[in-house]
Amino acid sequence: MPIPLKILFLVSEADPFVKVGGLGDVGGSLPNALLDLNANLDVRLVIPFHTAIRTDNLEIHREAVFTIPRAGGDVPVQVFHTELRGLHVYLISGDPFSQATKVYDTDAAVDGEKFVFFSLAALELVRRLDWRPDIVHANDWHTATALYGVHRMQDDPFWAGVKTLITVHNLCYMGAGSEAALTAYGLPPVNDINLPWWGQHTPMPLGLWSADEIVAVSPSYAEEIQTPEYGCGLEGFLQSRHESITGIVNGIDTFSWDPSKDESLLENFSSDNLAARVVTKRFLQTSFGFAVNENIPLLAMVTRMDQQKGVDIAIGALRLIQKLNWQAILLGSGNSEIESIARRLESDFPNRVCAVIRYDGKLSRQIYGGVDMLMMPSRYEPCGLAQMIAMRYGAIPVARATGGLRDTIAEGYSGFLFTDSSPGVMAGALRRALKVFDYREDWLAMQKAGMSADFSWRISANKYAELYNSLLARK
Ligand code: ADP
Repeated sequence: MPIPLKILFLVSEADPFVKVGGLGDVGGSLPNALLDLNANLDVRLVIPFHTAIRTDNLEIHREAVFTIPRAGGDVPVQVFHTELRGLHVYLISGDPFSQATKVYDTDAAVDGEKFVFFSLAALELVRRLDWRPDIVHANDWHTATALYGVHRMQDDPFWAGVKTLITVHNLCYMGAGSEAALTAYGLPPVNDINLPWWGQHTPMPLGLWSADEIVAVSPSYAEEIQTPEYGCGLEGFLQSRHESITGIVNGIDTFSWDPSKDESLLENFSSDNLAARVVTKRFLQTSFGFAVNENIPLLAMVTRMDQQKGVDIAIGALRLIQKLNWQAILLGSGNSEIESIARRLESDFPNRVCAVIRYDGKLSRQIYGGVDMLMMPSRYEPCGLAQMIAMRYGAIPVARATGGLRDTIAEGYSGFLFTDSSPGVMAGALRRALKVFDYREDWLAMQKAGMSADFSWRISANKYAELYNSLLARK
């Protein structure tokens, strides 16, 4: 047996330890999916010991105690170890985390201190363990600093030749506000005119600049981030790195998201007995006081209420097609202005619109398994999970052709795509979808097409494994 490839996987959140959003799904799935490939990979996951992490059900022990240098005095680090289905997981603890109440703070400098500390402590940990990784795999800005750290330690025999890779889940969040922390932990700005001045001392650009390979979470997003519309000011730099940029779509946890076993549904179903979906649809119609009629198309959104997600576009589109017969559930929370335009739609159409302003995992499952269409008019969508879950549950996505939506939905086959971020254009796509809904055989064929697509992590994990191997083969 050859020596396994050692992958140090760094991420700020990982389900089931801690999950705030889609990144937590990835942190909790991809490392295990890589191990499950049996591809001779030794993957180790390192996450921060956020105060939100519950330890009651965890078997953890203290693995290491050390300090890392910082201006004003060395900072103590404690590292705990646990296992997740055979995966080694290390949790990094220290003052920046034990003093924080939230996983992500609204104060950028507080998060800067937390994640610069975390990135450098994770590197020091593996040196203490004498576990030299072949590849350090960072995710988003929170762990990007680690790649800059590896770059700066190339004279150190432990780090010399270690390869680095960063996955970009959302380019727009770069970690601005971390400058003081970077300086305090001994990381100066990089002096390279290829990076815009503001990016020379910011974690995400530094991580992209240091990385041997850059992975965007879908092939379309990999292209998009090299354009002014989506590049967040880094498009020029990313164009100069285009040979090192690829796209790999995320998977979904197909065990957790399984309509044939999901206990939240009123009746389970598979693609062989899709008729059973109607029980959950009727339940939703009853719960929200809508007319109970399976022939009325039921539409939904399940989303963070953020400008990115285009809730306003969907609401504008629904108003444009108000003469048609439809019902809609808007589940989500976030930005208060967006929440209030959702509430306004409900008060204008009380018998057929319901705005549910909260996070509700159980209801989200019932929506995926009961509605006819899921609307995703995102202004940008690096990958998106909701559309994949919807297809797996027999709901047809009506989505903007951007990023991962474009790569996972086949227009007219498993969903409906539209190009412009405008209510008028989205209304056109909804009209098309509503027409097909009336042709039951065609609709059923689309549902089956979506349900038969393989959105499991296996395919994506294989692509990462191939990339690790090709990266290592490079000089
Ligand atoms: P993002 O990570 O940008 O928020 P994704 O589509 O990648 O978007 O993932 C969102 C995930 O969060 C999905 O699993 C979706 O079901 C879930 N979600 C979003 N909002 C809610 C909500 N209000 N209640 C329950 N689940 C939600």
